[in-house]
Amino acid sequence: MELANRVKTLSPSATLAITAKANELKSKGYDVIGLGAGEPDFNTPDYILDGAADAMRNGFTKYTPSGGIPELKQAIADKFQRDNGLAYTSDEIIVTTGAKHALFTLFQVLLNKGDEVIVPAPYWVSYPEQIKLAEGKPVIINAEEKNSFKITPEQFEAAITPQTKAVIINSPNNPTGMVYSKDELHAIGDVCLKHGILIVSDEIYEQLIYTDDSHVSIAELSSSLKKQTVIINGVSKSHAMTGWRIGYAAGPTEVIKPMTNLASHSTSNPTSIAQYAALAAYRSSSDSNTEMRQIFVERLEIFYGLLNDIPGITCVKPKGAFYLFPNVYEAVKMNGFETVDDWVKALLEEEKVALVPGTGFGAYENVRLSYAVSTDTLKEASQRIKRFVKNHQ
Ligand code: PLP
Repeated sequence: MELANRVKTLSPSATLAITAKANELKSKGYDVIGLGAGEPDFNTPDYILDGAADAMRNGFTKYTPSGGIPELKQAIADKFQRDNGLAYTSDEIIVTTGAKHALFTLFQVLLNKGDEVIVPAPYWVSYPEQIKLAEGKPVIINAEEKNSFKITPEQFEAAITPQTKAVIINSPNNPTGMVYSKDELHAIGDVCLKHGILIVSDEIYEQLIYTDDSHVSIAELSSSLKKQTVIINGVSKSHAMTGWRIGYAAGPTEVIKPMTNLASHSTSNPTSIAQYAALAAYRSSSDSNTEMRQIFVERLEIFYGLLNDIPGITCVKPKGAFYLFPNVYEAVKMNGFETVDDWVKALLEEEKVALVPGTGFGAYENVRLSYAVSTDTLKEASQRIKRFVKNHQ
């Protein structure tokens, strides 16, 4: 069958091959440690489950407005005011089927064939694919490890062409865990204002920052920047709700309105029950995500120390999210492998530890390890990695 050109070049998710192999080994009875997960290992808190159960019992099981129920939009607007000092009206917010679909819809609305979007690497795997699906062109710039995986304003400006429409800023970042400071965002924002470039600010890991620096949204910095930014966020990571599929976008109505129209012809609406669950999440004063954050901090400290102790592996200390993104290139060479992908494959086969190679994130010397697993698992994983590196010397 002749399929559409748009899917012919679509790359499968970077985690797919390694996850498939890990599952195959697990089904054969091997004790596989999976550090590939992109989701918190906690259950959704009870008060959120109650919100969903009440919604079901009260008959909120029908279609909702395409852009989300008014109460949830208001709760999201309240969250922006409270956490970011940003005032959005309901018309400037759309609730979507996860943050991923907010991004997908945004690129569909924004891009014409050949429009360029600047994507700093290491990047979240779906950005380039979603841009290509909208017939846009991802322009990758390297956020270098020596610069803590952050782009410089000079580098950014040098990548701008007359076709540049937008830039993606993802802070805290997946996969590196880096966080941009206010000053750094100011400098990037100035370049965007100078050239009239829209900022897609993916803030899905906003709640997961482990240093004293608090999260800064680039839209907070000035009213001109707010007008030129679309914020992407959601409850998946902040409230351990990955399976509920509730995300949102906030930005100028001229972008949000067509996004809502598009949603009305694609998803119709995000699941009604999940919207009520998200409403319970935002209305509550529960500190369950503070507890989750505290556990992540402890794990980060332990795992960061253990990994840096392995010969040939060095790691920039992340400030947020729940990933470490160490450079393993020296270990790969020392162990006699050609590429990081080969090293990762052998590590899984021999020591049964599943990591994600950096290749899918646009980084060829690194691997991503998630610490959304127990401390004991992290200790066992680092012992196995250490033994693997030693055995191949
Ligand atoms: N943006 C980034 C950087 C992510 O890491 C993810 C999920 O892994 C998403 C967006 C999508 O989140 P959601 O589960 O709400 O679709």
